Amino acid sequence: MPKLTLDDLDVRGQRVLVRVDFNVPLSEEGDRRRVADDTRIRAALPTIRALLDRGGRAILLSHLGRPKGTPDPKYSLAPVADHLKTLLGNGTGRATRVDFVPAVTGEAVKTHAAALPEGGVLLLENTRFHPGETKNDDALAAEWAALGDLYVNDAFGSAHRAHASTVGITRHVRQSAMGYLLQREVEYLGRVLESPDHPFVAVLGGAKVSDKIGVIENLLDRVDHLLIGGAMSYTFLKALGHATGKSLVEEDRLEEARTLYERAGGKIKLPVDHVVATAFENDAPHRTVTGDIPDGEMGLDVGPATLETYRSILLKARTVVWNGPMGVFEMPNFARGTFAVAEALAEATRHGALTVVGGGDSVAAINRSGYEDQVSHVSTGGGAMLEFLEGKTLPGIAALTDR
Ligand code: ADP
Ligand code: MG
Repeated sequence: MPKLTLDDLDVRGQRVLVRVDFNVPLSEEGDRRRVADDTRIRAALPTIRALLDRGGRAILLSHLGRPKGTPDPKYSLAPVADHLKTLLGNGTGRATRVDFVPAVTGEAVKTHAAALPEGGVLLLENTRFHPGETKNDDALAAEWAALGDLYVNDAFGSAHRAHASTVGITRHVRQSAMGYLLQREVEYLGRVLESPDHPFVAVLGGAKVSDKIGVIENLLDRVDHLLIGGAMSYTFLKALGHATGKSLVEEDRLEEARTLYERAGGKIKLPVDHVVATAFENDAPHRTVTGDIPDGEMGLDVGPATLETYRSILLKARTVVWNGPMGVFEMPNFARGTFAVAEALAEATRHGALTVVGGGDSVAAINRSGYEDQVSHVSTGGGAMLEFLEGKTLPGIAALTDR
């Protein structure tokens, strides 16, 4: 690791500012909001617990949703604080004190931070309630930094953003380090990019080629095979002269897709058959076609022959990275390709392959498939993982203290 990690810090007696990713979905019951999915909160617990166990105090910073730089009760972290209390109180043996201060800056925040006892946790209100957060405002960053002694970033999902709580703050603390979650992301994604065992296979799907061009370009020279599925395959197929019917095609990317395909010299595999439907609806009449897609129909999933080929390539792989569903997995009639890829990754993992899955919808898909515990790593970052795979330097990581 080129950067300090949590284990490098001496946190005893220290107030540690921790940037976490508590950007969780909330549900509403009457006028009461609750955490609908606590995966991201749980993912931050190892870092928080380690700090407390070593005699530190944790001051947590997170954003939630996209408030416009001003307080908005819809995006309050209050329900997250309540949930965190139940999580931290349970299972640690001793109840941890969790405080929430409904402010981002100001006297109340300072008072609470100063009064924080050893073993205590303080969560501030949504960082994006302050306009300085997304502007990486230095005064705001300095004010946050003054609340504590050390800084830990455990929010991989925000590491591609240069904000006050991810970048600015590091200029005003003695040391800043990666938390366990961030460290794990960097280890897995770093291994995939820098030292993959071969065969190395990338599976890319999802809605748009344009979202993934940077990833394809950066992976092309590293992988042995690039398996394409999802709507983005139709842009490639059309670029190569195939009929694609009513399928989703990015007309302004045809030239780029053709160039990439030619540059790949056979590494890019495209679907040879498709599950097509007459409309974008689960119950629309659908069937499997091989080759071209007729007028009046649209491709909504990869077909069985494609799956057989992709599966056999995946089972021989030693390293796999997967981003983007193979079809409209949200509709049961078009979910088969996506779930089959999830199953193939699980099988490859059992045979010793390193398998990494990421992307907002891809993670939802693997969770729904039930194979999420049978792959090596499920990334918590959507945009951050794509930028990492594009080979970009993530500002939130670059800003941390060098080892
Ligand atoms: P991720 O969030 O994992 O990066 P994307 O956002 O790129 O994935 O793409 C996911 C979306 O792509 C899903 O909502 C899925 O329904 C859609 N999709 C996949 N295949 C098709 C298709 N053939 N036609 C239309 N939409 C598709
Ligand atoms: Mg998405």
